Parts: sequence; structure tokens; C-alpha cells
Amino acid sequence: MKYVLISGGVVSGLGKGVTASSIGVVLKACGLRVTSIKIDPYLNIDAGTMSPFEHGEVFVLDDGGEVDLDLGNYERFLDVTLTKDNNITTGKIYQSVLEKERKGDYLGKTVQVVPHITDAIKDWIQSVAAIPVDGQEGPADVCVIELGGTVGDIESMPFIEALRQLSFSVGPDNFCLIHVSLIPVLGVVGEQKTKPTQHSVRELRALGLTPHLLACRSAEPLLQNTKDKLSQFCHVPVENILNIHDVPNIWHIPLLLKNQNAHHSILQQLNLLEKATSPALQQWTKMAETYDNITDSVRIAMVGKYVGLTDSYLSVIKALLHACVALSLRPSIDWIAASDLEEDSAESTPEAHATAWETLKRADCVLVPGGFGDRGVKGMMLAAKYAREKKVPYLGICLGMQISVIEFARSVLGLDRANSVEFDAQTPNPVVIFMPEGSRTHMGSTMRLGSRRTLLQTPGCITSKLYGNSAFVDERHRHRYEVNPAVIRTLEEAGLKFVGKDETGNRMEILELPSHPYYVGVQFHPEFKSRPARPSALFLGLILAATGKLEAYLSRHQNGS
Ligand code: GLN
Repeated sequence: MKYVLISGGVVSGLGKGVTASSIGVVLKACGLRVTSIKIDPYLNIDAGTMSPFEHGEVFVLDDGGEVDLDLGNYERFLDVTLTKDNNITTGKIYQSVLEKERKGDYLGKTVQVVPHITDAIKDWIQSVAAIPVDGQEGPADVCVIELGGTVGDIESMPFIEALRQLSFSVGPDNFCLIHVSLIPVLGVVGEQKTKPTQHSVRELRALGLTPHLLACRSAEPLLQNTKDKLSQFCHVPVENILNIHDVPNIWHIPLLLKNQNAHHSILQQLNLLEKATSPALQQWTKMAETYDNITDSVRIAMVGKYVGLTDSYLSVIKALLHACVALSLRPSIDWIAASDLEEDSAESTPEAHATAWETLKRADCVLVPGGFGDRGVKGMMLAAKYAREKKVPYLGICLGMQISVIEFARSVLGLDRANSVEFDAQTPNPVVIFMPEGSRTHMGSTMRLGSRRTLLQTPGCITSKLYGNSAFVDERHRHRYEVNPAVIRTLEEAGLKFVGKDETGNRMEILELPSHPYYVGVQFHPEFKSRPARPSALFLGLILAATGKLEAYLSRHQNGS
């Protein structure tokens, strides 16, 4: 196994994840099999209990892992299926060491950060790197490891030490360190400053790791003089100084790296030049260039709770992008804070209320994404009602599906207090209920999580056609509540159809409103499996409906072809 470690210096938020996945893309394009590991030095066992406000979206894997959103980047860029073990956190490492300690596995020894924690990190990396993630047999050729945080953080120290030991034990031919750094421009003269990078490389070297390549983030391309300086002071050959300057869209980054011969430097370091081919990135080039040239756009109203930080819905945004690009459109996403649509807001913040409604009314389609807690749910219901009544295409994901059930029960069945027990434990009409297998005391990893099968039982329905008339789909889940099986008959008689159910037939997975051009709610999260060249069927359906092209598309793809 060959390892490519990506570390970061100077500041956080440099796009290390995108850099690491782009490096993976370039190596894959050279004919190598690539896997990846993300290290998050925080104490949480996983991202499952972390707020999207603070940390961005929680990405969900097939195996039910609730992980850092960077794993989503890897899955999308490398088209792989990762496991929860591909995300290492301090919490997981300590948990495994402490479990062994309690079992007495350390035979009376004093358990210490070095060597016990560092050994656990090394063992974890080496065993996870060997798991095939691309559907083929046997381990990949290269494992890209992204170390979260910035070098020098207290919490990343045991990882740095473990990686230093790993680099030593696997030998120079099998280890390549790429340090991602920032080159700011200061003052009126606009000089590109190398000092922060020099400092962070020095810090890395003091910890025993020497970067083989530098990936320098900057607004404008680096000047030769800047590169020379970096090379001299950071002890990195000038041809190994990569520059990731701002580009129109992130699909350009693998191309940028390839054009700077990043693959050559990495392959040389890893002694893989003979095994690898020259990078074939035609599809990426086409995708990146097509997107730059798209002029038409489609307006999508995203009505959610976490609209302040767009990373909170990263995979939904990516899935919209994939669907739009497939139809030669540019997504124009209008964020609407659900609470701004509510009546209370008309009094307390009238301007925000008016703007939110204007935005909603201007949209070509409405999307209510997943979420937790009762903030904004009244606003989401108003959005769902508006979309339902005005026949505006609507996609409700997870919470968004539950919202449409509650709204329908209230408006159509006249059950004014219909609700989810998540928002009103005392509701006389619980149309969304707590799932029996959930835990009420433990939040971490106790939801219905990961890939589950949905049977598509209504052959003529829109979703079934969009999914190519397949008898079932496997999509990823993350929820604690579900539509109450006791109310299905009443809802169906009133016109809301449940066209996808789980294998028991009791759990509702997909709803549709046949009297509407596109009103779809799904209990799962189709966004997690969307890929740049393989958009999710339901997002594609939403955008097709938003642009009036759904019917033509469905009749063209009548037989699922
Ligand atoms: N809060 C809802 C539930 O737990 C929806 C979850 C979600 O949207 N991911 O079922």
C-alpha cells in the first residue's frame, strides 16, 4: 500500500478536502485504484451528534456511518463507497484503546498516548486502507489520507506522531506528504507572501515530517519568484510546488493539478511511474468546461432551518448541481429560512417575511431538505402547502416528506393539530411517530441509518419511472421518526399515495401526489448517492419538472432505458 498524506497549515478552511479528493481523481485517472481516509482529530466518536450549524452537513454512508462531509467529496470525486471506518476520530481511537484496557489486553502495562494511542492509529490506518471501496477485489494501490485541522493543533499531535512513525515503517517509496498551505497577498503592492507557509513547514519538520510537495492556495496564480522562494525556504523542489488558485468551479481542480504535473511528482515519490498511465481526464475536462459555458438557469427555493451555512446542505447542493448540469442548466439556489415564511414573522420581521414569500413565489421548484427539531417547521409546511396547491414541483427529503404528510393531514383531512410527535408529543393526530427501534436516551448512532431497500410498488408512478422502472432502490437513511402506518389508508383515500415502502410494507419511503405535476416526498436521502456523471433520479425529476420537461423525458424513457 502506498500512502499520500495531505496535511494543512496556516489556516483552516483551505479546501484540503477538495485538494485531497482531486489528487485522488488524478491518481485514479492514471489507472491506479484509490481509497481514502479522513482523520478528524476531534473527540466526538463520529459526526452524528454534531450540529450542521457548526460543522456542516453530516454525511451518511451505506453502512450507516455518520461522518464528516469530506467523505462525501471523496465518494463523489472518486466514485467509491466508503465505510464508517474510513473516518477516524480521536474519539474512536480512544474508545478502542480504552475498551482494550478494560479487557486487560495491555497486560498490566501503563497505557499511554505513545505508544498505545499512536499504535492504534497506525493499525487503524493500515487495516482500513486495505478495504476495497471501488467494487473490485483486493486492496487499492494508493490510500489518500487527509489529516483534518492545521499542523500544530494540540489535538492532532498523536496523529502526526503516528503518521511520522508510519512514514518511517513503510519507507520512502511508499509515502508522499503533500502540505496544503495559503499564500496571502498583502498591501498595495500585492506581494504574494510565503512566510506563513515557511512557518508551517518548519513546524511540520520539527515534528519529524518533511513535505514532498506543497499545494499552495492563492487567489491568483503564483509567480515564479514566489515558487522559487518557497522551494528554497521549504526544502521542496520547485516542480513539486503546486498552485491551486481560484477557479470557476471545483471540477477544474483535478485539471489544474494535472496541468502542473502533480501526478508525475507524486508517482515519482511513490515509485509508481512504471505502473501508472498518463492521466485520462477527458470526462472531467468536459464536465468542468460544460459547466463554465452554461447560461440558462433554474430557480430552486431551498426552505430549511440551517440556511446560514450552506455547508449544512452540501450534498443536496451537489445533487442539484449534478442534475442541473445533466440538463445543461445552472442551479440558482434561493435560500429561504423557513421561519421567515411563518405568520409570526409577518409581525416581528415584516421585511424578511415579505422577501421570503417573494422568493418562494418566484421559484421554479421547491425543496425542503432534512432536519431535526421544531424550528421553522410551520414555515416548511407553508412552503409545502404553497407548492401543493399551486402545482409547483416539490421535493421533500426526510423531514421534508414528514412535513408534507403533516401539511396534507391538516389542510386536506382537516386535522388541525396533526403533527409529528417530534414537534408535539401530545398531538391528538400523530401522523408521524417515533420508530419503535429507536433509543430515547442515546443520540449517537441510534437512528435508522444507512442503506435500506425501498420497494417500488406502483409501476406507473413518476418515481418508479425516474428510477428506470426498477422494482426497488437502495438509498441512504438517517431518521428517528416515520409516517404513522395507522393513517396511511386515510391519507391514500384522500389522494396522497405511498408508492415506495420498505420490505415489510409498514414503513413509508416515498409519497407522491398523482394530481400534481411533481410532488414527491422521500424518507431517505437521495442526495448522498448522487454523482457528477450520475445524477440522482429524484433530483433530475425535480429539475425536469421545474423546466416543464418531465413528461417528455418520461415518455422517452418509458422502458427505463
Ligand atoms: N427529524 C426527522 C426524523 O428524525 C427527520 C430527519 C431528517 O430529516 N434527517 O425522522
